[in-house]
Amino acid sequence: MALMQLIYVSTAREEYGDDVLEKILASAVANNLRQQITGMLLYADGGFLQVLEGEAAAVEETFARIVCDPRHHSIFEITREPIADRNFQQWTMGFHRVRRAELEANPAYAPLIAGRINLAALGVRPGLALDILKDFAARY
Ligand code: FAD
Repeated sequence: MALMQLIYVSTAREEYGDDVLEKILASAVANNLRQQITGMLLYADGGFLQVLEGEAAAVEETFARIVCDPRHHSIFEITREPIADRNFQQWTMGFHRVRRAELEANPAYAPLIAGRINLAALGVRPGLALDILKDFAARY
């Protein structure tokens, strides 16, 4: 079975409270469990950063649904590549709402916090995108 990892950033249609984020996460967890998708979703200042990993066809089918979701836009794929092993096997979909202070604690994340938190800046830093996802997956 060929495993694939896909990372993207997107912009929320509006600034979301925990209620909306919990609904997104609930359907993500239910669907991902069924399709054996694992990953991590981060939300910060109206931006999403997500990694999906699993069997290639399942990841592509899931991502095709995600890109049609009107709750976000400006979806930018950062990486889509084959992987030998999963990095997020413990999460059907881990989630964390990232606070500015958490990013400020790590100097490597400084490029993301000029004014507002700007996860879209990760579009040109694929390695940093995976690092930040792994970092938060390990902490929460
Ligand atoms: P439901 O969750 O019941 O939704 C039915 C339809 O209504 C879908 O088309 C959905 O897009 C739409 N919808 C639901 N609530 C709202 C709302 N409040 N406003 C507008 N439209 C709404 N899904 C996954 O399976 N796995 C993931 O990892 C995943 N990650 C996501 C990450 C982000 C940032 C976002 C925004 C969505 C994510 N989703 C994920 C949800 C995905 O986009 C689909 O909504 C979901 O997969 C559809 O699940 P469902 O068929 O059970 O329908």
